[in-house]
This record gives sequence, C-alpha cells and structure tokens, in this order.
Amino acid sequence: MCSEANNLHMLFFPLMAQGHMLPMVDMAKIFAAHGARVTILTTPVNATIIRPNIDDSVHLHIIPFPTAEFGLPDGCENNSFILSDDLRINLMKANYSLRQPFDLVLTDLNPDCVVTDLFLPWTYDVAIARGILRLAFHGSSNFSACVMSALHQCRLPADKVESFILPGLPYRIEMLKTQIIDFNKLAGTPMVFIMETLKEAAEVEVKNYGTLVNSFYELESEYADLHRERVGRMWTVGPVSLCNKDVINKSTRGGEYPASVNECLKWLDKRPTGSVVYMCFGSGSFFSIEQLREMALGLEASRHPFVWVMRNEGNDWIPKGYEERIKDVGLLIRGWAPQLVMLNHDAVGGFVTHCGWNSSLEGISAGLPMVTWPLFADQFCNEKLLVEILKIGVMVGSKVNTFNMETRPIVKAAVVETAVRRLMGDGMEANERRRRAKQLGEMANRAVDKGGSSYEQIKNLMNELIDRKKCV
Ligand code: UDP
Repeated sequence: MCSEANNLHMLFFPLMAQGHMLPMVDMAKIFAAHGARVTILTTPVNATIIRPNIDDSVHLHIIPFPTAEFGLPDGCENNSFILSDDLRINLMKANYSLRQPFDLVLTDLNPDCVVTDLFLPWTYDVAIARGILRLAFHGSSNFSACVMSALHQCRLPADKVESFILPGLPYRIEMLKTQIIDFNKLAGTPMVFIMETLKEAAEVEVKNYGTLVNSFYELESEYADLHRERVGRMWTVGPVSLCNKDVINKSTRGGEYPASVNECLKWLDKRPTGSVVYMCFGSGSFFSIEQLREMALGLEASRHPFVWVMRNEGNDWIPKGYEERIKDVGLLIRGWAPQLVMLNHDAVGGFVTHCGWNSSLEGISAGLPMVTWPLFADQFCNEKLLVEILKIGVMVGSKVNTFNMETRPIVKAAVVETAVRRLMGDGMEANERRRRAKQLGEMANRAVDKGGSSYEQIKNLMNELIDRKKCV
C-alpha cells in the first residue's frame, strides 16, 4: 500500500441494479485495499444492501431517492426489485434527476475522481464542470463492448436474412438477428429512453478520463486491446468478486447474510466433489410458468444433484409429486442465494447461467464449465465468448433476446436434460471443457494476486492519479 494513496479520494457512484452495484462495491473495496480514501455514493435502501459487505475502509454517503416523484413504490430504489418495463424506465428517469444532488456532493466532498456507471453518462458533465475526473465503470466484457460497437457501425441486414457476421472483430463472429436488440424496433416505445442513455454513454465514453472493466487481460486480450483502442484509456481490474475471500464476505454480497447460507452449506457438504449443478439466472430474470415446469422436469431427468435459484414467486409451475421426488437430489432456493459461496463449494461441478457478465466471470473465477442460457441485453454476447472463444460453455439453444418472459420461446425439458448431461458428463468433450475452465479459474485468481495483470493495472492507475494530484 502506498502512503500517498491515502490522500487520493475516489468517489464511486453505482447504478442501482445488483448486476452493476455489486461489482462496483467490490471495486471500491479493492481501491480502498490499495490505499485510496474511498466513498460510495448511494441511496437509503441501496445503502442497506451495501453496508453488510463493507468495512471501515469504505465510507457510505447517502442521498434521498425520489421514488414518489417518479411513480415508484416506496423503497423501490433498485432495478432488481422491479418487474415492469414502465417502472424500469421510471427508475432510470429518477436516476437522471439526481444530477443536482450529485453536484452538491461533489462540491461538499471534492473528490479527486469519480467512478460512475457507464449508464450514468450525465455524471461526466457534472464532474467536468467541477474540474473532477470521471472514470466510467463498464459492467460487461470487453468482448461484448466490441460487439456492441461493431453493431453500431453496421446496418442490420434485411429482414429475411437470419444471421450476419460482425465487422471489424479479430475472429468470425456470427449472430442471429433475434439475438441482438434491434434498436430501430424500440422507436416509439418507452424503451427509447434507455436507447438514448446508451447513445449518450457511447458519446462520453471517449471523453472520459478512462474506462474500468471487470475482466482480466488474459481472458480476452484481443478484445481488451480493441476496446482500449476505441475508448482511448481502459483498465481491466477484475474479476472484482474475488476480493470477497471468506464465507461471510461472500454471503453478505447483496445484503444481509441470507438465511439460506447454512442450509446450502449443509446440503452441499454431503455431496461428492464436482457432482452438483448450480442453476441461477442473476438478480432480475423471471420465467413463464410453462418454462419453469420444463426446467424442473429437465433438471430431474438429468439425474444430477442440483441447486436451483429462482426469483419467481408462486407454486403453479410445480409438476405433480415433484417436490417429493426430488427431495434427496434437489435444493430450491427462492429469492436471493449466496452465489459466490455456492460456486466456490467443492461439490459444485457445473453452472447453468443466464450469462450476465458478473455470473459469467464468477463461474470462470470458480473454474466451472457452464450451460449458457442467455435471455436479454448483452447476455448473448457473453454466451459467444464462453462457448466459441473460451470453449467452456454448452449452449441450451436460447435464440431470442427479450425481457418478456411470456413471449420468449420455451426450452423443452429434454433440451435442458441433454445440456446438463453434456456439461456434467465424463466423456472426452466434457473433461476437456472442465480442464479449460479450471485453467481459466487459475488464471483469474493469478490476475488479482500481487503482480498479476489486474493488480498491476490498478496500481498503475492509482500511481497515475496520485502523480496528477501532486501536479495540480
Ligand atoms: N447474485 C447473487 N445471488 C442471487 C442472484 C444473483 O449473489 O441469488 C449476484 C451474482 O453473484 C452476480 C449478480 O448478483 O454478482 C448478478 O449479476 P449478473 O451480471 O450475473 O446478472 P444480472 O442480475 O445483472 O442479470
């Protein structure tokens, strides 16, 4: 730790969604461990989620959130609590309205730099007007950033063409048109607001002091280089979740220590090494009743023990006699699961994931092969990275990028069963996938250790910021 670093004050302002906030809190803790004075700016309900997972090295600065003004239910300050698109847009609009309070905080605290989410592009203007540097936190992979940029550069092919090849990437990457969001089709819908935010984010990305990415260089070096070339300055600082070393840290990530931790550990401790499939779809993914039923039957038919985390409420999906049949082989977790604890338990040998970037990277860090089941946003890009480039994923065959659980095509039980069996099998293909995943897991851990690529990137950035501070 550098003593001069103590003078460097960094203000982190996360987007209010678990998939953005959790990695940014990890990142804040990492910079604090490198000696920076760190403050996280957030709102009351989000503070209750963050507080159990930080210690005295990180300060919280809390500002009110205008829920009522934007038609949001009381306490609805996080995207992960929201089910409807309309409320999601209201939350984004409420974020925008924080411009003035953010400016007041900058005047009050006068940090040396702010690290704010890419999806809060307005923070750039506010920070610059106060003479403060803005670093953007990019919550996805470098690969996905490159794909998004390639998509902006090309016109989508005519309607009857099903797939197309993305221009300007190091390797041939082909995507189905249904796997990407067609922004043209969003015109006239409330989603335009998100589209505009993305456009603004891309515009300021090249003006920022730089971009921080939760990834490590060795994982996707060609795409990291390409991303850096586009945005000018970029640091890969992950996998940030690896800063949560013990069970308490891992379990409190996302709020209070979940009641399910002890139950999960007791359940997993009884299973042989590498025998269990862990299935979870991130913080905000829901499924139709029909899809849940197919998942249930598919997992059962795979004949591998499983832990299944689901955010849907209600029991309408449960097939007749199901709970009794699976009671010795399956553990259902309703609500929030201690994902980092589960993924890193010896008994877990495979991960069925929606390919959110955090989950993907957490699976990689735990050295696990994955069944990829992308649903929306950048998840289809992350699937490409896991399956075609890193070769540690088995696709379930999800083809349509949509938030709408009711219109999403159903993946049948037999398909789920086959994918899980391929993942957990012990043939040559499965063993090779497992070997590669283990190797990547070791690389991920080395990257954040002293002397590793991410460790060094953080050190270099901090030295640069300290030198800059000395000169002003
Ligand atoms: N997560 C968790 N428990 C859950 C669901 C999610 O700890 O029950 C964490 C997970 O470890 C990851 C984050 O929430 O860090 C979800 O981010 P991701 O990018 O994977 O997906 P998103 O929620 O943004 O779709």
